[in-house]
Amino acid sequence: MPRPFNFSAGPATLPEEVLRQAADEMLDWHGSGMSVMEMSHRGKEFISIAQQAEADLRDILAIPSHYKVLFMQGGAIAENAILPMNLSRGARTDYVITGSWSQKSAKEARKYCDVNVAATNEGDHHTRMPAYGSWQLSDDAAYVHVCSNETIHGLEMHELPDLAALGSRAPLVIDCSSHITSRPIDWSRVAVAYGGAQKNIGPAGLTLVIIREDLLGQALPITPSGFNYQTVAEHDSMYNTPPTYAWYLAGLVFQWIKAQREGELTGLAAIEARNVAKASLLYGYIDGSGFYSNKVEKAVRSRMNVPFFLPSDSLNDAFLAGAKERGLLQLKGHKSVGGMRASIYNAMPLAGVQALVDYLKDFAQRHG
Ligand code: PMP
Repeated sequence: MPRPFNFSAGPATLPEEVLRQAADEMLDWHGSGMSVMEMSHRGKEFISIAQQAEADLRDILAIPSHYKVLFMQGGAIAENAILPMNLSRGARTDYVITGSWSQKSAKEARKYCDVNVAATNEGDHHTRMPAYGSWQLSDDAAYVHVCSNETIHGLEMHELPDLAALGSRAPLVIDCSSHITSRPIDWSRVAVAYGGAQKNIGPAGLTLVIIREDLLGQALPITPSGFNYQTVAEHDSMYNTPPTYAWYLAGLVFQWIKAQREGELTGLAAIEARNVAKASLLYGYIDGSGFYSNKVEKAVRSRMNVPFFLPSDSLNDAFLAGAKERGLLQLKGHKSVGGMRASIYNAMPLAGVQALVDYLKDFAQRHG
């Protein structure tokens, strides 16, 4: 029996090969006699797993050597506080609001620093990206924060802002929770990238922070030691016990990414090409259907999270029940937006999106 296709926004579908490998290794990792869950994080077995995972991530995302990769806990919501504690110096910061997640980030940061909202798309109900040239950036911001993929509203920055060209000297921080490893990151524009693992990387419980080294060492005195980026970096993310099993599983996902092939393309390039194909298949059908709709400005539609609406909310329950019968799971939209949402992360194959489009067609024919 093939597994159903799972469109959850997160925790989300993982590559079946990875789940099978984890199952095979569950009781005895590589002849060690231990499950990865049972290993000391300071033993040679786990250290080798940890180092390999970091090396693979660095390779996939071409992370420059003057950036540290931190394997932390707390999720991106905790990072909303940990980040200003570590980088704001209690001073001014710039936040750009493009949807629910950046809004939450700005709200939390206000507890620790002075937040300037440099731009917001609230007036457009988070359906358009505020033009980069219109951002009201501060002269002296400690950093500029954006959410590069808004998981709930379905907006993605397909090109990250070049802050220097916009007249800001501040480092750019991106919350890339819901599209990390779906495409390359332009490190010439990004100083800090953070994200929870539970969409494209592995199980919940692991949070990645990729940070330029010169930004370490300026945490506010109130910063908990376990969340002080410098302390975490100095201890190779083992100041406290890291989420070892999630780290291991992330490592398996990184190896899976590296092994992907799409024609001539390999690794992240293959993944990205597949993501482009999946998104264009789904948006293309929705736009041409005359039945379903997506309200986001085309140029900033997310490749990962596709919110869409039926012509009437009264059809929603029948739609979801029929989808489940066909093995298409977790399509209900976020409660703040309504409608449906298909999250089509790296591990969703093109066949899954094709199966969804086939169902969308059938449903529209029966109810149109
Ligand atoms: N930021 C973004 C972009 C997200 O998608 C999410 C989770 N959906 C969060 C932050 C919050 O992450 P967590 O629940 O892991 O703290």
